[in-house]
Amino acid sequence: MSACLFCKIVAGEIPATKLYEDEDMLAFKDIDPQRPVHVLLVPKKHITSLASLAAEDALLVGKMLAKTNDIARAAGSLGGFRLIINTGEIGQQEVQHLHMHILGGPQPVGPMVKKH
Ligand code: AMP
Ligand code: ZN
Repeated sequence: MSACLFCKIVAGEIPATKLYEDEDMLAFKDIDPQRPVHVLLVPKKHITSLASLAAEDALLVGKMLAKTNDIARAAGSLGGFRLIINTGEIGQQEVQHLHMHILGGPQPVGPMVKKH
């Protein structure tokens, strides 16, 4: 069993509110939303971060990016969204499994700034 939190969510070992899923990726609601719409989009394959992305992962990440608009709209952010990928220590990445924060809401949203 993986020790990685998001691998456990992908495997169904930890519950999450899923918004989109296919063979490559899973989108679910952030447990501590910072905006009215706050969705996390993760690859099913464990990739630690953008810093460990391999050339062979480019198609996968491209597929994820291509889904973000539909996921944001389905979550209720109709007029656009922000996409944030925290990377490494300086980027204050807390979960060591690549994830895209999709942030939005009915009104324009400011940039996500860490609370700590
Ligand atoms: P980051 O700081 O970029 O690594 O973001 C990690 C995100 O994961 C934070 O926004 C957390 O609120 C979120 N998170 C942590 N645990 C869970 C969980 N069990 N289900 C959904 N989101 C989570
Ligand atoms: Zn993982």
